[in-house]
Amino acid sequence: MTRAGVYLHTPFCRSRCSYCDFATGHYDAALAARYVSALTREIETFAATRARDDSTTRDVDTIYFGGGTPSLLTPEQASLILEAVRACFDVSRDAEVTMEMNPGTVTPEAAAAFRALGINRASFGLQTFDDEHLRRLGRTHTADDARRTLETLRAAGFANVSFDLIAGLPEQTVEQWSRNMDEALALRPEHLSLYLLEVHQGTPLADQITRGVWREPDADTAAAMYGLMCERASEAGYEHYEISNFCLAGRESRHNLKYWTAAPYYGFGNSAHSYDGRAARWSNERDTQRYCEAVERTGSAVVETTSLTARDRQAESLFLGLRLMRGVNLREHRAEFGDDVRATHADDLARFQDAGLIEIDDERLRLTRSGALLSNEVFAAFV
Ligand code: SF4
Repeated sequence: MTRAGVYLHTPFCRSRCSYCDFATGHYDAALAARYVSALTREIETFAATRARDDSTTRDVDTIYFGGGTPSLLTPEQASLILEAVRACFDVSRDAEVTMEMNPGTVTPEAAAAFRALGINRASFGLQTFDDEHLRRLGRTHTADDARRTLETLRAAGFANVSFDLIAGLPEQTVEQWSRNMDEALALRPEHLSLYLLEVHQGTPLADQITRGVWREPDADTAAAMYGLMCERASEAGYEHYEISNFCLAGRESRHNLKYWTAAPYYGFGNSAHSYDGRAARWSNERDTQRYCEAVERTGSAVVETTSLTARDRQAESLFLGLRLMRGVNLREHRAEFGDDVRATHADDLARFQDAGLIEIDDERLRLTRSGALLSNEVFAAFV
C-alpha cells in the first residue's frame, strides 16, 4: 500500500531574499498565531470531511514543514500542528518528519524542542558559504551562522540533515562554486539539494539583472557547475538520485519521493498543493490573509481542483519519473497505461538519444547527465 505524505506550509521569513518567488512574507507574531490556528482548523476540517472518504489514504509516513521558514514557528506552534496531523492521519512510528530551517533561526533550546516533538530531519537552507553572495541574495545570515546552526542541530540529535545550495549565483565563478562544494561535502550532511539558480520574473534579482547590476552565469558556466556538482558528490560517496538531489545510502528524501512517484500527498496552509494519488489535484489560496479568512469562514481554502485524465496521468508518470536518475521502466509504464513509449514517441526518443540527453537500457528510459541539465526540453516532449 502506498502511504501518503503531509506538507505543512509556513509563510513567514525574517526578510525577503532577492531571488524568491515563494508564497511567503515577513514574520509577524500576531499573524503567525492566527495562521497556526487556521492551519490546525484546516487539518481538522479535512479529518472531519475528506479524510472520512474511503478514497483518501489515511496512512502517512512523511510529514514536511516547508516554507517560508518553518523554524520561525515556536516549538509550541509546531506541536499544535503536529498534534492535528496525528489526530487526522495514522502516522507511522518510523515517519520521516522534516522541517526546513534557515541558519540563525534556531536556538539550541528550540532545536532540542523540535527534536523532542519527533522532527527527525532538518532541511537546511545554506545556499552558499560565501558571505558576499549571501548579502547579494538578501539572506540575513552569514556562513558562520550556518556552520553554528549545523552544530546546534547535530548537538540536538538531528542525525538526518540536508543542505540546500545554489549554483550559478550572479557573478559566481566555477572556482567559487567548487569551494562551496568542498566545504559542503566536508561537513558530511546526509543529503544535498543542489540547484542551479533560476531567475523568476518579478523578483528583485530579475530586476537587478535586467538593469545590469549583476550578470547571470552563462549556459556554459552553469553546465560546468552542474557537471562539477555531480562529479564531486559522486566521488564523496553520494548517490545522484534525482536531477538536483544527492544522498548518502538510504537517505533519499522520502517525502519528496512522493512527488516524483505520484504517491498521494496532502498539503495544508496557503499555496499548498495536494494529490490523491489517482486522479485529483487541488491547491489552496496563495495569499496568507485570504487563506486565514477562508479557513476561518469554511474550514477550507481550496481554490482550484483539477481532475486528471488518463492521458494526464500517463504524461505525468513519464516526466515525473524521469526526474529520478533511475528513470522509468517502460515495460511497467506500458502495463499500467497501455502506452508503448518507444512507438508513440519514437521520433523524440531518437532525437534525444542522438543529442546524448537520454539513454534506454533494458527497458529503462533515463536522463543522462547532459539530459538532466536540459531536462525541461526533454519533459516538454512528453507533456
Ligand atoms: S528564506 Fe527561503 S522562502 Fe524565505 S524569502 Fe528566502 S528563499 Fe524565500
